[in-house]
Amino acid sequence: MFDQTLDAAGVLERASGAIGADGLTSLRYTATGTEYIFGQSARPGGPWPKYSFDLMITSLNYETGSWSEELTGQRIRAEMRGGGEPSLPRGTTYAKEGYSWSQAGAKSYPAPWHAENRLHQIWITPHGVIKAALRNHAALQWQTQGGKSSAAMSFVEPGRFGATAFLNEEFLVERVESRVAVTYYGVLPFVTTYSDYKNFGPVKFPTRIQRSQGGFPILDVIVKEVQPNVAIDFEIPDSVRQSSVPAPKKAVKVADGVWEIPGSHNCVAIEMRDHIVVVEAPLTDDIAVAVFDAVKREIPNKPIRYVVNTHHHIDHAGGLRAVVDEGATIVTHALNKPLYQGYLAAPRTLASAGLAQAKQDAVYKTVDDKLVMSDGARSVEIHHVRGNDHAEDLIMVYLPGEKLLVEADAFTPGPPNSPPPAQADAFAVNLVENIERLKLPIDRILPMHGPIVPLQELYRAVGGIH
Ligand SMILES: [Zn+2]
Repeated sequence: MFDQTLDAAGVLERASGAIGADGLTSLRYTATGTEYIFGQSARPGGPWPKYSFDLMITSLNYETGSWSEELTGQRIRAEMRGGGEPSLPRGTTYAKEGYSWSQAGAKSYPAPWHAENRLHQIWITPHGVIKAALRNHAALQWQTQGGKSSAAMSFVEPGRFGATAFLNEEFLVERVESRVAVTYYGVLPFVTTYSDYKNFGPVKFPTRIQRSQGGFPILDVIVKEVQPNVAIDFEIPDSVRQSSVPAPKKAVKVADGVWEIPGSHNCVAIEMRDHIVVVEAPLTDDIAVAVFDAVKREIPNKPIRYVVNTHHHIDHAGGLRAVVDEGATIVTHALNKPLYQGYLAAPRTLASAGLAQAKQDAVYKTVDDKLVMSDGARSVEIHHVRGNDHAEDLIMVYLPGEKLLVEADAFTPGPPNSPPPAQADAFAVNLVENIERLKLPIDRILPMHGPIVPLQELYRAVGGIH
């Protein structure tokens, strides 16, 4: 039984003593198991795609607030459904001082949209959560559930995340429920469970860690080895620091009245008689705003009235709150509307919950199979990419006047003159099937990732099926 005369500080002191948190400045652990790729489900609102891996090396520095995670050996995808099959190598991911990035060889890939989530993972580890509970003066509540008592320690790290750690009668952290804001999803729930604690020198550490994020599994690992107080330090690359403020973007004309706004995600602007249609609000609100600004510089004096969202994946929908702020209508597959209504109604940040709701209500125009938007002179066709395992809600934009197809993630052309892939990509084969089903006359494909290419490049990539 718990000694319920203990106050919050007393409980934390016991908890710290139980696992050796006091003298611990850093910790590295290796684990094997499965991870899941957040925000990349095949079905809107469905589970995250699953990967198994040989070895994950997680490094935590509690003094500098640094986190890194490296995967080595084999990493195998459970099934080819959903996104997250990295166009970038998985490499090692890092987070420190509000920045996050991944590193593959000499190249850094900034990922500011992951920073808050990854940094908060330092402070939901068993030792981290006790340190964070102490510095944020956690409130204590005694709980009993199913005959089991626990001490629940709740706190908020202002502006960053909130958490409740549940300690068992041995004062070991058994579960942490945490909340952190993740782009268009708003504040998301995480649940992490820690079990099978063992001694590793001066510390105790769980040998089983399971986590869910947004209601679906995100991690399930067996911990093999734990090294306390090892030297863990790394520098934030200059390119990562610079990219945290999105550089002004520049629109490039690809046809009369049609612009590409190149980036890691190539957005598109289509000039209509009295308004503008933009395709995609990717990554983050700041990046989406930079795209809108570039569009307005090229097409002044017309409002952005519609923003087409090609599918629900986090990197393609991360800027949807900026669309709402812009006063534009979100054009998306009908499957997404109820989900987006829930996400966009959630608080945008933990710091300003309740205040930072969208400035106005989101307005939707949904697509089931086909939607045509026309101003009398130009028409914009939006088609469902039926049966594509990348995302069940995937839509593509076709401009009949220009014979131009704008598509995301079904086909990503390689650099110019690169050889076709050894094996035809199933998502691209499905795109060909959809183009042939719809009998769309296409000259060029403008992909959301990669260069504009003639249609033949798609056929070359799938091995010439025609
Ligand atoms: Zn995708």
